[in-house]
Amino acid sequence: MAPAPVSASQSVLVPTYARAPLAFERGEGPWAITADGTRYLDFGAGIAVNALGHAHPHLVKTLTEQAGKIWHTSNLYGAPDGERLARRLCEATFAERVFFTNSGAEANECAIKMARKYHAAKGHPERYRIITFEGAFHGRTLATIAAGGQQKYIDGFGPKVDGFDQVPFDDEKALRAAITPETAALMIEPIQGEGGLRSVPARFLKLLRDLCDEQGLMLIFDEIQTGVGRTGKFFAHEMYGVAPDIMSIAKGIGGGFPMGACLATEEAASGMTLGTHGTTFGGNPLAMAVGNAVLDVVLAPGFIERVGQIALRLKQSLAELKDKHPGVIAEIRGEGLMLGLKLHTPNTDFVNEARAQGLLVVGAGDNVVRLLPPLIITEADVAEAVSRLDKAASAVEAALKRPAAE
Ligand SMILES: *Cc1c(COP(=O)(O)O)cnc(C)c1O
Repeated sequence: MAPAPVSASQSVLVPTYARAPLAFERGEGPWAITADGTRYLDFGAGIAVNALGHAHPHLVKTLTEQAGKIWHTSNLYGAPDGERLARRLCEATFAERVFFTNSGAEANECAIKMARKYHAAKGHPERYRIITFEGAFHGRTLATIAAGGQQKYIDGFGPKVDGFDQVPFDDEKALRAAITPETAALMIEPIQGEGGLRSVPARFLKLLRDLCDEQGLMLIFDEIQTGVGRTGKFFAHEMYGVAPDIMSIAKGIGGGFPMGACLATEEAASGMTLGTHGTTFGGNPLAMAVGNAVLDVVLAPGFIERVGQIALRLKQSLAELKDKHPGVIAEIRGEGLMLGLKLHTPNTDFVNEARAQGLLVVGAGDNVVRLLPPLIITEADVAEAVSRLDKAASAVEAALKRPAAE
């Protein structure tokens, strides 16, 4: 038997997370299962991480086989599986160089350092500032909270790391005005995840590319949430026909094993020479084995196309749900299997009602509920999720109609 969930008042964990009173013991595909056997349809996928669902046979086999061989060697020695994964990522994207990390924030740290070093190595160390966009989320390290620019994450942690300038979302005039001779890069999520599933208009992404080309700036895409098939493309920027110079990835690439990477063109990575950057665990053999196994599945012919098809099905059903519950659901947002319900009613209530119906979904900024199911969901899973969302929306409506005194 698994240990019973620990109540918040008894926990000795640093209480930075609002945890649901619920814990999972195991999983099967899109299902997460508690110790007493209760099954939840997992349309959060550990916040867009479990791209292939829970306990995918190919990932389980790969990880357990690697666990019996060697776990860790450090970057003092060669990394054959890391070389292979890097080469496969390069072959499937714009990239020519890869640096492996353990998390998304760390991939962004690499991206930020790389952009600064690129200019410094070219004789322009004064070009170190990076422009980011309102509503952004880039992680929780000191540099990435400064990049994200959200005051609630910055307050109380000492002076904000210098070198980040934030401009409003999709505002060409403000962006042009913010670029100075000190600007090194523009950094953006093609679709904001934590910020509430806001898609950057294609025209604006093209503008960013043009500005970077004109002014010699690095274009950084944070595809930590949007990447690895999530949007119905291998990476979301493929939808817009705009490639970055540097891209951070994490979440889906490990399928649940913690890992990330910073991808770049050879030119963008040219300042990152021997000894300029490093990490103990990055590119660890366990992570590299699993990353390769994720790509075996995601890059298999037809897999990503199928994500697009099932996503369309989900989006159509959600549009119907919105028409059925106009007092609750205001708008359907997002791309592929990264969809959001923008609500009229508090999103936290909706997340709780969905959980009461046995469906896991995730809140986001701008009062949005995120649906981030594993990429392997079937039409039956979609139908089941929509039926549970329908019940959750009805429960929210019923609560609205009850007199406030009750
Ligand atoms: C999750 C996320 C991050 C941070 O990743 P961590 O692994 O939590 O450090 C950064 N950017 C985006 C867009 C994310 O979704």
